[in-house]
Amino acid sequence: MKNLCRSLLTLSLIFSSLLTLAAEEAPSHHIDGKFRNPYLPADFQPSFIAFLKARLFDDMQWPDEPENYSKSWQAANLKQIHNPDFNKAQATLIGHSSVLLQYQGINILTDPVFSERASFSQSIGPKRYTPAALTIDQLPNIDIIVISHNHYDHLDVDSVQALTSENFIKNTNGSQPLWLVPLGLKQWFVQYEITNIEEMDWWQEFKLGDLTIQAQPSQHWSRRSLFDTNESLWASWAFIWPESEATEKFTAWFGGDTAYNPYQFKEIGEALGQVDLAMIPIGAYEPRWFMKTQHVNPLDAVEIFKDVNAKSAFGIHWNTFVLTAEAVDEPPKALESALQKNTIDAELFQAMDIGATWLQ
Ligand code: ZN
Ligand code: ZN
Repeated sequence: MKNLCRSLLTLSLIFSSLLTLAAEEAPSHHIDGKFRNPYLPADFQPSFIAFLKARLFDDMQWPDEPENYSKSWQAANLKQIHNPDFNKAQATLIGHSSVLLQYQGINILTDPVFSERASFSQSIGPKRYTPAALTIDQLPNIDIIVISHNHYDHLDVDSVQALTSENFIKNTNGSQPLWLVPLGLKQWFVQYEITNIEEMDWWQEFKLGDLTIQAQPSQHWSRRSLFDTNESLWASWAFIWPESEATEKFTAWFGGDTAYNPYQFKEIGEALGQVDLAMIPIGAYEPRWFMKTQHVNPLDAVEIFKDVNAKSAFGIHWNTFVLTAEAVDEPPKALESALQKNTIDAELFQAMDIGATWLQ
């Protein structure tokens, strides 16, 4: 009897320590059928009232959308895009967070936004002050499109429909692109009859031939309408091409839209080992008291550059829409001084022009 009691006691001790262990595990980003940021308080939500307060009462003057603005902008090099070197990666910044990444015959688009406005309506809302560096008609065939989250400056209904239209497929001699989206976002696409789509949680992988695409963490949030806050996930994306006879291993990482914390990007860096090209947001960050939980500033962007072990990077999420209070030409200057402060060569992390192509 004594032995039985002792065994039961031992068992219950093991069981309770297992429970404690489970409770102490890395905080989850799933909560009650929705999603949350593991490194922010569970009840964190960017509030609309706080946004209005920032917009109306903060000391900072929000810039107007500039007219005929052409700073840090160039038309995309179509020749380069349509004749890429098979054994060299290249990435063209189309505008905001839309990037065309090309390597070994595979064409990947990130967060394609070609519309005039990043908004629920094309009559109101943030209007682009630099045009997209090329039009949808000028794109090559597209194999894969990744979406970081459902905010209007990253997920644009007109662009989604154009990229899956019969016309686009025919003109590019392609097939329906494969959409890779974070959890909870597939149903939005289904209403537009898009079926070539995979919904992925952080750390899930998708293989296309030798290429591995992995959904990875970021610190952000989601909302498309009044009552759907955080019902779909947000993500960054890694693209890993293994070593081949002619080429070395190549890894690209797309940050999407994110704030900084000292955990998630270190985890990504550990998982990937090295990132040959990182695409990191550098715009939409003031005022800090309001934006710092959802958007990095260039100083944070450099921390991400270091955490993910990037060899080379360029800035995204800037020079397209006025979303926040910093001056439109401030991000490159702030990036330069952030790099200087960290004694990182400015060549390694550039605020390259919209329309420029990064070459391996
Ligand atoms: Zn966003
Ligand atoms: Zn954004």
